[in-house]
Amino acid sequence: QAKAEGGRGFHFFTEEMNARVLNRVTLDKNLHTALEHQEFVLLYQPQVDGASGQITGVEALIRWHHPQQGEISPAQFIPAAEESGIINGIGDWVLNQACFQTRHWLDLGLPELTMAVNISAVQLRQPDFVDKVMATLRQYRLPAEYLELEITESALIRDTQRIVRILNELRKQGVRLSVDDFGTGYSSLAYLKNLPFDKIKIDQSFIRGIPEREDDAAITEVIIGIAKSLKMELIAEGVETKEQSAFLLQHHCQQMQGFFFGKPMSAAEIEQRLRQSVEACPIQ
Ligand code: C2E
Ligand code: MG
Ligand code: MG
Ligand code: MG
Repeated sequence: QAKAEGGRGFHFFTEEMNARVLNRVTLDKNLHTALEHQEFVLLYQPQVDGASGQITGVEALIRWHHPQQGEISPAQFIPAAEESGIINGIGDWVLNQACFQTRHWLDLGLPELTMAVNISAVQLRQPDFVDKVMATLRQYRLPAEYLELEITESALIRDTQRIVRILNELRKQGVRLSVDDFGTGYSSLAYLKNLPFDKIKIDQSFIRGIPEREDDAAITEVIIGIAKSLKMELIAEGVETKEQSAFLLQHHCQQMQGFFFGKPMSAAEIEQRLRQSVEACPIQ
């Protein structure tokens, strides 16, 4: 009886594995095609001053418009893209598109904003990564300060020495650096000490619980304190309610990003928001 079950279990397991490997191969092939056929788009989510609601920056978030499957979220394809290495091609496209868009908004005379771009660990390890970033900024005549690279803590674990060199080089060139999903990785405090980050993004898992959950509220307050002590900028991610926003303001975390202020939206929608803010405050 036990033996038969074991046999069946094993059989099932290999079939499932085959299916998964097949999916991965198909996915890799599709990602290559997607790049060629320009099936990716960037959405932009406002980063605001929570007190005034003014947009100070946007985060570029990729979407894949699959011809059959419709919109696919990055959580579903970025990990596979990182494993296969196609993330480098996708990342180049993202960086280029984000800088193009920033230049376009500047040319329209819209209020200045920071463009935050997510960078995966694989991209950071490219030998020519810094050169690529600087070449893209030059191509669109963008001062480096307009670009902010968001890097998660988990990206820093391997190859730390090398990553430190790359990040220092970027910082020296004036590119801004932020730690994404802060508080969810390891050794966060040592990274803050040794790496040239400008800004911390408090992970949305903590923001979700405030103000009701005491543990999330305590962690959020501690992170705010760390940023202040280290003289770093700070932004809270995943702000969905008025109560969360009020708690953050009360604890002196001014910068916020989340559905309460705006979901990731098209470039045209951002443009419209920026125009409205100019009309609301014509003196600025
Ligand atoms: P992330 O960089 O931490 O981005 C924040 C995620 O939270 C986004 O999910 C955003 O849509 C979502 N979000 C923002 N505000 C709220 C809120 O109030 N409530 C909730 N529930 N969610 C909120 P998204 O766009 O699905 O992206 C997921 C992750 O995929 C990103 O996490 C980032 O790590 C990665 N990613 C996205 N675009 C790129 C890209 O161009 N390159 C790379 N390498 N990774 C990317
Ligand atoms: Mg991010
Ligand atoms: Mg995040
Ligand atoms: Mg994330």
